[in-house]
Amino acid sequence: MTFKILITDNVHDSCAELLRAKGCKVDVKPSLSKEELLKAVKEYDAIIVRGKTKFTRDVIMEANSLKVIGRAGVGLDNIDLDAAFEKNIRVVSTPQASTVAVAETTIALMLSLARMIPEAVKSLKEGAWLKHKYVGFELRGKVLGIIGFGRIGKAVAKRALSFEMKVIAYDIRNIREEASAMGVEVALTLEELLKKSDILSLHIPLNKNTRHMIGEREISLMKNGAIIINTSRGGIIDTKALLKALKEGKLAGAALDVFEHEPPQTEEEWELIRLPNVIATPHIASQTQEAQSAAGVMIAEEVFKILSDITSRKETR
Ligand code: NAD
Repeated sequence: MTFKILITDNVHDSCAELLRAKGCKVDVKPSLSKEELLKAVKEYDAIIVRGKTKFTRDVIMEANSLKVIGRAGVGLDNIDLDAAFEKNIRVVSTPQASTVAVAETTIALMLSLARMIPEAVKSLKEGAWLKHKYVGFELRGKVLGIIGFGRIGKAVAKRALSFEMKVIAYDIRNIREEASAMGVEVALTLEELLKKSDILSLHIPLNKNTRHMIGEREISLMKNGAIIINTSRGGIIDTKALLKALKEGKLAGAALDVFEHEPPQTEEEWELIRLPNVIATPHIASQTQEAQSAAGVMIAEEVFKILSDITSRKETR
């Protein structure tokens, strides 16, 4: 049986290579229009994407050949999971592939904010030697509050502890044992975490419970001069509330890899990005050779296994 698989969204070449080596017929199209996607769900056994292609309910309901949606990476917010379940389409992802890349980016953003590295680099390239302007702060001794003590949250905690930071974590799961084994304090409520943190870092999925989880009220509970790092999903922070807090000086800075719209669309998003106390990157946290290659291989193996299992079940009936 030859499986017909479409790969889009610039999934790493390792994915197509592995599937072709297994005898699949693979088409690669770096991006798909909605019309092309509506056609593809009727032609392919599996479609492999990253975060750009949107499997909305209306798209999924048109599917008649599609058996698997493979997401190379983490976060399934571009796929309507209820609709996929109703159509008996399996949805799989590779959450473990990008953990280290995102954790390292989080630390890089934290250090960049603390030491104003992007601004210092820019001014020197422009010919200015502003040694006395860029007096930053050290991470040692600062309280890092982590929301979401999953794979990435824990990997960030491990790295932050090596910088001698004090780490506190909040999660909806019971994380007491995992946290205490690492020397991380547990906050029993979000409010407790917000009040205690010098630096707040978000590592939770975007869903209906977490959308705008950090808004005006939550920011008002934070220490004056605290900073926020977001490498999870843009919609978790209310952009307007963050912009206001940064402009008024309630927060000292923010480092953002993710935005409510990607690319950013609203005036508030662009104003936020352009603030001098904001470091913004275009959703690059998982963009390492290692993470992308691993995600390509892992999703190819998983999708092939599911298609093979479905076929062998049909044959034994
Ligand atoms: P994970 O599932 O291992 O961890 C998420 C943790 O968040 C879990 O422990 C879960 O219990 C907790 N959680 C869920 N809802 C919560 C809530 N309302 N309050 C508190 N805790 C809550 O996921 P992960 O691999 O650590 O990834 C975390 C997020 O990072 C992903 O969902 C994704 O959105 C984001 N991410 C971003 C990039 C990027 O390129 N910037 C790359 C990978 C992942």
